[in-house]
Amino acid sequence: MVFRFEEGDAVLMRSSEPGKPSYVARVEAIEATDARGSNARVRVRWYYRPEESMGGRRQFHGAKEVFLSDHFDLQSADTIEGKCKVHSFSSYTKLSSVGNDDFFCRFEYNSATGAFIPDRVAVFCKCEMPYNPDDLMVQCEECSEWFHPSCIGTTIEAAKKLDHFYCEECSPELENLDNANSTSKTTDAKVNTKRSLEVSKSRNKHAKRSG
Ligand SMILES: [Zn+2]
Ligand SMILES: [Zn+2]
Repeated sequence: MVFRFEEGDAVLMRSSEPGKPSYVARVEAIEATDARGSNARVRVRWYYRPEESMGGRRQFHGAKEVFLSDHFDLQSADTIEGKCKVHSFSSYTKLSSVGNDDFFCRFEYNSATGAFIPDRVAVFCKCEMPYNPDDLMVQCEECSEWFHPSCIGTTIEAAKKLDHFYCEECSPELENLDNANSTSKTTDAKVNTKRSLEVSKSRNKHAKRSG
């Protein structure tokens, strides 16, 4: 079977270790060989899965999250299983359904140092965690902050049924709104830069990939 792929495409590549999930890579260059296209080699730039990074998988990493690494390789085109899509974080969160071949990338990853670019990520909720797109969050209509249902004492099922949500801090203010002379609180939807998490701290020992 011949897969038609081009430079710049994201592809799934068969893992050298049986039972391991396919590697995700970006095709940087295709080295043409004979006219029949056999023995073609591809220069790839690996996407790392969180498990393969020095810090390992963390709570805020999505199931389909990959990091664009600085790790290049020359691989046989035969190991390419098919194309996949690596979305930006924001376009991934807007997907109506996530297929097997949908991934997202919000960090670049330095495979030698374990550092991420960007090295900080905004945090949300009382628990001060970065956004994991796999987790449902509810947004306060007043302050625009996002919350996990479990962190505000409710369930995912109940949160899905909410028509309106106001967080603890905003609820009392709204109750007093009737006689308040519209002292409009400046609602800043932007994330406070102080509320962010440094992501490059490594916890685990070096996770080495064989590719
Ligand atoms: Zn939370
Ligand atoms: Zn609020």
